[in-house]
Amino acid sequence: MIIKLSQSSTEATLNTLTQWFAQQGVEVRKVVLENQVLLVTSSKWRGDTSYLNSVEGVESVVDTGTEYQLCTRKFQNQDTVIDLGGGVVFGRGCTILMAGPCAVESEEQVMRTAEFLRSKFDIKVFRAGAFKPRTSPYSFQGLADEGLRLLEKVRENFGMKIITEVKDTTHLDAVADVADIIQIGTKAMYNFSLLAFCGQLEKPIVLKRGFMTTIKEFLQAADFIMSNGNSKVILCERGIRSFEPQTRFCLDVCAAALVKELSHLPIVLDPSHAMGIAAQVPLVAQSAAALGIDGLLIETHPDPANAKSDKEQALSFEQFSQMVPVLDRICTAVGRTLVA
Ligand code: PEP
Ligand code: MN
Repeated sequence: MIIKLSQSSTEATLNTLTQWFAQQGVEVRKVVLENQVLLVTSSKWRGDTSYLNSVEGVESVVDTGTEYQLCTRKFQNQDTVIDLGGGVVFGRGCTILMAGPCAVESEEQVMRTAEFLRSKFDIKVFRAGAFKPRTSPYSFQGLADEGLRLLEKVRENFGMKIITEVKDTTHLDAVADVADIIQIGTKAMYNFSLLAFCGQLEKPIVLKRGFMTTIKEFLQAADFIMSNGNSKVILCERGIRSFEPQTRFCLDVCAAALVKELSHLPIVLDPSHAMGIAAQVPLVAQSAAALGIDGLLIETHPDPANAKSDKEQALSFEQFSQMVPVLDRICTAVGRTLVA
């Protein structure tokens, strides 16, 4: 249940309501989203709302009927629009093509990639991780702060927006200083402290779905960020684990289709991590684009065979170049504009 307070509500309204809920033994949380004060109760609470509606300063009471509440269309039917400037707008009919290597490896590697993406396709959002969440402690873990410095150089030299990932709260401030969009990876999705801290930032957050996460848990994670005050959440489906070992994960297009219906948040898809095999990534990207989504995350590398992470799925520049015009036509066919 979400209680929306009107702009004219006072501290007294808040106190009256909090005391009333305390008497009923109901958990309630104050949330401020874009200057709108809300009280959100545990979703299981189904009390009599007539009293709430009668309190002066209460604008409306929304029964979302779900455990994820702020991200649902029941709370807000209108699509959330996240505008980063420079033509990068999520949630208003564009499919933003975000591309780059899995990890920042060297100055030469990121500069060559950014140069290719910017000059050939005018790609506006550069992706690359400086803090890599690797499954093996013996694999390349990323260049950390040095990687962030190189990403800053990419922005300076090519005017691209930067999306880069945060693994945990120890380096969140450093990442937030540099990133235009902060990415929370599939394994970090359950780090609730990280979600809460990201909720206290103003920057947009791309929240990747955990690879064993139900749609409900995924949307609850989005609510974790939003309930801490950040409404700029972009959902990302990146593949879930299936019984099939020959593809890396299974891109859950069904979940993506359903999430578009359930949530007002923008949704982007990551065919690279789902497929895990470069040759088939463009085909999966095509099917993702056909869904009519707000963006795509694609890994590409100047020398895939020698990439330090996720080399099997990194597109060569040639593969990337062949993919873009096809995506462009598909986006047009489904009434979207590919921003590349
Ligand atoms: C990545 O984007 O390089 C990455 C590690 O993604 P995920 O968290 O989806 O595995
Ligand atoms: Mn990767």
